[in-house]
Amino acid sequence: MKAKSSPTRPVRQIALVAHDNKKADLLEWAAYNRGTLSQHTLYATGTTGRMIHEELGLPVERLQSGPLGGDQQVGALIVEGKVDFLIFFWDPLAPQPHDPDVKALLRLAVVWNVPVACNRATADFLISSPLLSTAYARTVPDYSTHLARKTPGAGRTDPPARA
Ligand code: PGA
Repeated sequence: MKAKSSPTRPVRQIALVAHDNKKADLLEWAAYNRGTLSQHTLYATGTTGRMIHEELGLPVERLQSGPLGGDQQVGALIVEGKVDFLIFFWDPLAPQPHDPDVKALLRLAVVWNVPVACNRATADFLISSPLLSTAYARTVPDYSTHLARKTPGAGRTDPPARA
């Protein structure tokens, strides 16, 4: 598959999501890394974002609460190239009403080669990576072959995606 590079940004756009049983974990992690996080742009699902803002005083671009569509909004930001990495502490031991949204968000992160930390150890590695403060350009997969494919029946190709 051909690939192109994402633009490099000195300020990273970081999306944060935590399920209820994982919110304390995320908050503790965010408090420990407050200095680093404060240098970047933060997005979060509703309740996660409110907690980070209230308890750490960090500015957060808050989306809808996860079960009400917030995960899908994070997914849309990924598709638009507006998320450099995702910290997503999902709960492996509790069923979620928005399980399809959770799966969709994780899938889109893989589709667009966005790094995802689903637990604290991975989040530690991501936030302490030297690549965070360099001109690292993430490889964005080129799906032009997929977009130009012939679809059964109609014999037409997809219209070009919005820029
Ligand atoms: P919340 O959503 O931050 O609004 O609680 C998180 C989630 O469950 O996806």
